[in-house]
Amino acid sequence: MEKFFSFRAALGVRARPRAPFRQSSHLVSVFHWHVPLPHSCNADYSCQVPFFLLLIFSGQAFGAGFGSYADLVVSDSPATRHNGVRVTYLGTNGYQFEFKGHALLVDPYFSRVDLLSVAFGSRIQPDSSRIADGMRPLASKVDAILVTHGHFDHLLDVPIIMSKAHTRLIASRSSIDLVKRAGVSSGDAVAPGHIRRIGPWKIRVLPATHDRLFGKVPFDRHEQGSAGPPQRASDWICGEPLAFLIEINGQRIYIDSGGTPAQLPPNQKVDLAILGMALPDSRVRLPAALDRLQPRYLLPSHEDDFFLPLSDGFQFGPLTDFARVQRDCAGASRSRLILLDYFRPWTLPAAVNPKPQAPDPKNRDRGLHGWH
Ligand SMILES: [Zn+2]
Repeated sequence: MEKFFSFRAALGVRARPRAPFRQSSHLVSVFHWHVPLPHSCNADYSCQVPFFLLLIFSGQAFGAGFGSYADLVVSDSPATRHNGVRVTYLGTNGYQFEFKGHALLVDPYFSRVDLLSVAFGSRIQPDSSRIADGMRPLASKVDAILVTHGHFDHLLDVPIIMSKAHTRLIASRSSIDLVKRAGVSSGDAVAPGHIRRIGPWKIRVLPATHDRLFGKVPFDRHEQGSAGPPQRASDWICGEPLAFLIEINGQRIYIDSGGTPAQLPPNQKVDLAILGMALPDSRVRLPAALDRLQPRYLLPSHEDDFFLPLSDGFQFGPLTDFARVQRDCAGASRSRLILLDYFRPWTLPAAVNPKPQAPDPKNRDRGLHGWH
């Protein structure tokens, strides 16, 4: 069922005149040169990227698409010691977490279907070429893929990534159902409260909500309307949104893809909070979410324009409001606001005085004492 688009062809069809970078990438992407990533890599990982990714790194100034917020962008330097948890941003709400030869993916999405195809209800498909390019710098061995909900910008590419990475999917029942319709044979259907231990990772599944777009959650169904594989954006239904609390190396990472004040993250101090911030509901809940998580680092997520190809580099989506995010974060004195650029790994620093975190009495009230 999968139609293979070359990167070159995709650019040719969809090229927009405004970006000189795209013109040059059109010319050179046919070569698919392989070059080392501009960071030091673990020897057991593939560190080859196609030339178009190099252009992201070198053809554009680092962090250029972040405008006046470029000074918030963090990444490893060649001197960074990779003995901590390494976080790589894959665009949209996609991440790779790595620790000592193990890797987890969350919401990996490389196809970047264009806006018109979604808006007009056209048939959409994973783009094999873009998926291959997106996966090339990633770890060769992936312990699991976690998916927050079933929308196409979180789940569309997962069946292909699962087969290429020979890994398992942890997601809601309806998301598992969607990938099975797309040809995947198995998946681990989870619900809030479930805990999975995979290699060094301890993953707690948490409840979440999804932002409303123009007053309602997009494609807000829990069951697909028709049988057969999902074909249009509307077939990739939201289902039950999930968040994850990942414990690794004595550190905690909370990740969701957005949400509303109706469902806040747990009262659990974390080292890194990756909070979806694409839409107004998420921004309204931000102060309360920061109050509960008290993250050392806040990484706002899902803020890029995910209808543009990754080769365009990071650009804020039209519905984001990063100035407000920055203002609210400034009020949370414990948290350092950071941004990540595409495929620029960053190692989460260890806490200066890491101490075992005593259970918060408020957590007991909310039944979170099971998290140990
Ligand atoms: Zn969504």
